Amino acid sequence: MTEHASVAIVGVPLDENSSFLRGAAGAPAHIREALHSPSSNLCAENGMDLGADSRWRDAGDVGSSEVQPSFAEIEDRVGRLVVNGERVLALGGDHSISFPLVRAHAATHQGLAVLHLDAHPDLYDELDGSRLSHGCPFARVMEEGLANRMVSIGIRTANPHQREQAERFGVETFGPADDVTGVLANLAPPLYLSLDLDVLDPAFAPGISHYEPGGMSTRQVLDIVHTLPSPLIGADIVELNPDRDIHGMTAMVAAKLLKEIVAQMLSA
Ligand code: MN
Ligand code: MN
Repeated sequence: MTEHASVAIVGVPLDENSSFLRGAAGAPAHIREALHSPSSNLCAENGMDLGADSRWRDAGDVGSSEVQPSFAEIEDRVGRLVVNGERVLALGGDHSISFPLVRAHAATHQGLAVLHLDAHPDLYDELDGSRLSHGCPFARVMEEGLANRMVSIGIRTANPHQREQAERFGVETFGPADDVTGVLANLAPPLYLSLDLDVLDPAFAPGISHYEPGGMSTRQVLDIVHTLPSPLIGADIVELNPDRDIHGMTAMVAAKLLKEIVAQMLSA
């Protein structure tokens, strides 16, 4: 790990493992547009001005939405950044990308804890005949032993199969209204954050593929980001679907979360 943290943003325009709707491959461009929109600034809530901070950079995309990256390409590109001591914030893309992303981090960081914010457990053994679906990434992560501990928060769609899988893998699962203060306080680094935007109530983030009412508020998710133990060594923001967004609202939520996550990564 470098003495001074540095952060690389990497776009991962891949949506071919999405079970219901395509569109998430267009997300990185929309998040960048929202981030640099003159309607706001680049200050995080702790006062860190990312507009004047050279410790983070945009490293571009892996592949493109036309020629979507393979898992091997994602793992290779991100793995090279991680091994050089950078902290990577990946912008999806559908949630399938978290499997190669966590793999890339686990190769350098032993004993990873994964914090997963999502409406869905994403623990299917297979979905619609695919083991690499966006409904499966954390089954693959846990099978490969890539995480020492996994905590999922915001879950409100677990069916009997996914409950069995959570039990089998020891995934600690919490609903959107559960008090997670103690859990967050006991998360030992190195920590990887995987943030599926559908953890939010669709009222806060309508630009997603799977609407699951009864979700968290933007403020609740920001509070979680702000209370994460340091160091946060890697993260992803996934499942923005620009085709479903309204006036770029969800892209702006993603850009806001990006700022707060980068500030968290740079603060320790
Ligand atoms: Mn997900
Ligand atoms: Mn989800």
